[in-house]
Amino acid sequence: MPTAGPRYLVTGGAGYVGSHTVLALREAGADVTVVDNLSTGHRAALPPDVPLVVADVEDTATLSQLVADGGFSAILHFAALSLVGESMRQPTHYLRRNLLATLALIDVAIAAGIRKFVLSSTANIFSGESSALIEEYAPVDPGSPYGESKAMAERALHWADRIHGLRSACLRYFNAAGADPAGRIGEDHRPETHLIPAAIDAVLGRRPPLCLFGTDYPTSDGTCIRDYVHVSDIARAHLAALDLLDHRSVALNIGTGRGASVREVLAAIGEVAGHTVPVIEAARRPGDPASLVADGRRLVQLTGWTPSHSQLTSVIETAFAWRKANPHGYPG
Ligand code: UDP
Repeated sequence: MPTAGPRYLVTGGAGYVGSHTVLALREAGADVTVVDNLSTGHRAALPPDVPLVVADVEDTATLSQLVADGGFSAILHFAALSLVGESMRQPTHYLRRNLLATLALIDVAIAAGIRKFVLSSTANIFSGESSALIEEYAPVDPGSPYGESKAMAERALHWADRIHGLRSACLRYFNAAGADPAGRIGEDHRPETHLIPAAIDAVLGRRPPLCLFGTDYPTSDGTCIRDYVHVSDIARAHLAALDLLDHRSVALNIGTGRGASVREVLAAIGEVAGHTVPVIEAARRPGDPASLVADGRRLVQLTGWTPSHSQLTSVIETAFAWRKANPHGYPG
């Protein structure tokens, strides 16, 4: 049912971070319309009364028509190819699709007089070669074509602001993980390549042992270090960023400042499951930087956002609960 709140167009809203953000927006009283081609998203990840337009973001005719009534106050752009490893095998595909989709959407926003744009960006715009916490103005040096495609999208938004006054928030996600604490939605990629859900499936005996990619990184235990942030905390950061856009464009890292190694994550999953995660040690996965941990203080300072579910145990418990309750993921 439409609400009296602000109206947002959410691309990729049926995906993992997108669907958790749709829930947060709705709980804040917003009126949300989702555009998703359902290539990786799920209709069942959306509340039944959220309008879903099944289309590609690059389908400018459909999108222009959708926003033509002028009622949308912002676009939140989640729809993207988002796998680092896959991008190392298909670099031009990633660069082309992610950049062209963002450019098309910028044109749609400007033509319709929409003044605010939120981009799902990534920590992969940074090299991850140092173990230092990554602050917003660390040099942009993407670790993969996926990261490069997001860095290019950020630059396109910079020019859209300078030339057309389209305000943007580029939100650099570190490692989104976990599931809605109320168990309504969760993470369902097919195939699943992300560490936490893949390891949970391995410990539940639903897939072969987990391949641990790389044990010779220059880190404390030789495995990669990441900043795992609960997806519902990331969702709330979008609401905070939308408020900032009343005043200025921003680029913000969304992280906790605490890293966990792959081995630490596997140990924590083993504890929650009551069994050791079966593992096969394997070679490094191309494109994986050694360490990506955010200095997330700027987001906290500017908005008062704080992560409330991002302790590793909460992340894993919520992810575990959803996958256990939904052994085949979403229906369909
Ligand atoms: N990883 C792993 N085995 C897997 C999946 C991931 O060892 O089956 C490692 C991966 O190399 C990286 C970390 O887990 O160091 C997080 O990977 P994920 O794909 O979850 O997120 P990314 O950091 O690529 O966004």
